[in-house]
Amino acid sequence: MTRRTLLIAANWKMNPAPAGFDAADSPFRKDGDIDVFVFPASLDIAKCVSAGIITGGQCGRRESSGAFTGDVSMTMLKAAGCASVLCGHSERRKFHGETDQAVGEQVKAAIDAGLTPIACVGETLSEREEGKTFDVVKKQISSLPPEISIIAYEPVWAIGTGKSATAAQAQEVHAYIRTLLKNPCRIIYGGSLNVANAKELLSQPDIDGGLIGGASLKIEEFHSIVNTARTLK
Ligand code: PEP
Repeated sequence: MTRRTLLIAANWKMNPAPAGFDAADSPFRKDGDIDVFVFPASLDIAKCVSAGIITGGQCGRRESSGAFTGDVSMTMLKAAGCASVLCGHSERRKFHGETDQAVGEQVKAAIDAGLTPIACVGETLSEREEGKTFDVVKKQISSLPPEISIIAYEPVWAIGTGKSATAAQAQEVHAYIRTLLKNPCRIIYGGSLNVANAKELLSQPDIDGGLIGGASLKIEEFHSIVNTARTLK
């Protein structure tokens, strides 16, 4: 089987763009063999787009405009030059109360706006310990439109904790998610992916890339991860 094109995505969260992000040899630029997307804070979208980086919003509302103080819409992200948007990142679910239904509506609005959404799913530690991982991701995925083409499996307990899922744990859930999808879809892993674990995680047959937070703020570290992905293409 031909391998799906690996996608390495940087989620800078509410942090400034790392120094050198726009250099000619920046790892944040698309590489011929793999896809690289960057999700900066909203105020940095314009400079990433100007630098020729494939850029996405960290969130977007489904309504195209209106009285939603502080928000941006999917259509605004598209007009700003974004190619993608994160939907339902666990930090949005936790701090902004985004529900599965709202995430599904965002994904649909993003597709309608001409963006490629990345829908984020994943269980909390207590859900994993109670044996509910498959049920949780199944419910999250059941809210997504069938046109979804990129899903990020991000176990909540692994995000920003330095405690990644093992390759076997991640592969097991990715393979399960694939059984739930009717259309071809890339399924990327997120949760403390770093230089040390990138090769093993990205080598798994159902792991089609990574969504990387902390390690994407360290340009050398991100470069190493991109180089590792390139060898696995
Ligand atoms: C994320 O924010 O999506 C993420 C995976 O963060 P980290 O790599 O820091 O765990």
